[in-house]
Amino acid sequence: MTTIKNNSPLMAEIGRIAEVAGYLWTKGWAERNGGNISVNLTGLLTDEEMALPALAPATELQETMTSLGGNVFYVTGTGKRMRYVAQDPFANGALIRIAPDGKSYDIIAEQPVRPTSELPSHLLMHNYLRSLGRDNRVVLHTHPTELIGMTHCKPFLDSKVLTRTLWSMIPECRIIVPKGVGIVPYEIPGTIELAHATIRQLEKHDVVFWEKHGILAVGEDLIECFDAIDTLSKSAQIYISARMAGYEPVGMTDQQLDDLVPAFGL
Ligand SMILES: [Zn+2]
Repeated sequence: MTTIKNNSPLMAEIGRIAEVAGYLWTKGWAERNGGNISVNLTGLLTDEEMALPALAPATELQETMTSLGGNVFYVTGTGKRMRYVAQDPFANGALIRIAPDGKSYDIIAEQPVRPTSELPSHLLMHNYLRSLGRDNRVVLHTHPTELIGMTHCKPFLDSKVLTRTLWSMIPECRIIVPKGVGIVPYEIPGTIELAHATIRQLEKHDVVFWEKHGILAVGEDLIECFDAIDTLSKSAQIYISARMAGYEPVGMTDQQLDDLVPAFGL
């Protein structure tokens, strides 16, 4: 019997998913079943593993994923908690295979766990980024306290203002999140409207804030997606700590920020 557990590179990637799920929980960004992760694993599976039989009847997708036919993803499960994904990623998430025509998906391993209700949104983003030719593999959504807190302040609902404020707290933020951040005005969680509004922001940014809800990051590497959100979170904590201490932080100057561009090849 074929089991993906004999595939060392694949299991290493599953291990990274569990690692990041643990970080989300310990950071306090994943209350109850908050947040979700999807990772495109296609290049890591053997031909035999790519052809694994379905564990449940196929599920139709609302929109055709024209750029994802035959791709395999790990997706956290619906209602599952990040703290348990960290402990047992296969009891709290599943591998799904998109049909060749992009119109449905099968759960193929390791257990018949239903994917997150956010799956249509995640797939829309994966599909869009692949259609642009970007080697995107990861969509990560989580609830970092201070970053969400900043979206409750009207002046920060402007991408330029929020980016400038967060960049100016520490040099690393300008370096690690070079495209800045996008903002999507409040939408009901899990809706296709939220996904489409996010896609528009992904044209320019790899990290998007959802007003009064959370953060979404995309990229080639899950650890780097986590690091981008973690660095933004550090900036937000510095900003809010200063405000709580009663002063407005000075922030880096435009010149100091601009000097980082040639120095780090941004
Ligand atoms: Zn959320």
